[in-house]
Amino acid sequence: MIYDHIIIRYGELSLKGKNRHIFVNRLKETIKKKLKPYPDVQVNKTFDRMDVVLNGEPHFQIIEKLQEVFGIQGVSLAVKCSLDLGEIKETALQALKEAGSEVKTFKVTTKRNFKQYPQDSQELNHIIGGFVLKNSEGITVDVHNPDVEIKVEIKPEATFISCLDFPGAGGLPIGAGGKAMLMLSGGIDSPVAGYLTMKRGIRVEMVHFHSPPFTSERARQKVEDLTKVLTRYGGTIRLHVVPFTDVQQAIKKQIPDNYSMTIMRRLMMRITERLAAQNDALAITTGENLGQVASQTLPSMHTINEVTNLPIIRPLITMDKLEIIDLSHKIGTYDISIRPYEDCCTVFLPSAPKTKPNRDKANRFERNMDIEQLIEKAVENTETVYFTEADEEKKDDFKNLL
Ligand code: ATP
Ligand code: MG
Repeated sequence: MIYDHIIIRYGELSLKGKNRHIFVNRLKETIKKKLKPYPDVQVNKTFDRMDVVLNGEPHFQIIEKLQEVFGIQGVSLAVKCSLDLGEIKETALQALKEAGSEVKTFKVTTKRNFKQYPQDSQELNHIIGGFVLKNSEGITVDVHNPDVEIKVEIKPEATFISCLDFPGAGGLPIGAGGKAMLMLSGGIDSPVAGYLTMKRGIRVEMVHFHSPPFTSERARQKVEDLTKVLTRYGGTIRLHVVPFTDVQQAIKKQIPDNYSMTIMRRLMMRITERLAAQNDALAITTGENLGQVASQTLPSMHTINEVTNLPIIRPLITMDKLEIIDLSHKIGTYDISIRPYEDCCTVFLPSAPKTKPNRDKANRFERNMDIEQLIEKAVENTETVYFTEADEEKKDDFKNLL
């Protein structure tokens, strides 16, 4: 293996103008944390990208880790060599050979940051391309749609040659955009909503409502496992588990069946808003998606939304169910989400919740309840746990032992 570097490209970050360095510094911190298990790697920041010096650490594992980091548009395996043209030609040839035997066409793209270099980019493309062509069999040049683009970057101190590119997660570096509370249910949707929120640079803390003994420990375990998976993208994540049994029993007693789901959601919102204030979060994220179930009609959202002034982020609002499922597979939450344990909502849900609840009625029914006391008690008894990426890895180690 001749590759000794990984080049990290930023994409959207480069459009951030004056705040760019804040984003880039965030990104560098995240990358360094992410690569902690590989003590020999070195991360260097230059003006328009970062270079990871591998120092013998396993490149494909590191690439996989980097693909979980928001703010990275793409990464390339690269090899560093001197400015000597003979060495550049030879290294380009080796780099292409290591790109795999399926490669049939290539082109060379040279970027010459070092303007004093004797040949210009065009000449270099020809010289290097000609050499590669002459010294390999069954390979031709295709300037429009090549299997592999050999990128040669001539810098004052060295040359970098790369030809294996991998897509990054895109988005913005985590933490650059403040914090939101994610209402995490254990279903398929909310973890995906959390992933997409983090993708825009927003840190999340999880809020989960559970109703023991009507919901089991395994339902809670599911939410913990989902949180652990999401630490791959978010780093350390806090999970707030809210005891919700009293609220649900009060609703069952005091609210007509067809409004119980609406009122339950309004209470979840209020409690989440309280937790947001305690934890300096400025928004609430949910996995809601228009038209899936009774709680997710427009009138229903309108009625539920009334109780909070915080922005509600609903990343899935216009997505098709199949797109959501596809994403949940990609981010690694699907298999956990489909474990069968019951959610607190399903246990208490009436068979026919109202699909068009309205605000006046909801407010009228709520007057029968001591809302403030229920909220305070739930918030007071909320249990908070932390998860880090290391927790997720421990689980992997365990799996390997089985
Ligand atoms: P999901 O797949 O995320 O469970 P869903 O399609 O089942 O969503 P609902 O049950 O109507 O839809 O829930 C809508 C949203 O409300 C969820 O995406 C989640 O954000 C929030 N939510 C529902 N139940 C809970 C819960 N027990 N704890 C925390 N949040 C919840
Ligand atoms: Mg659900």
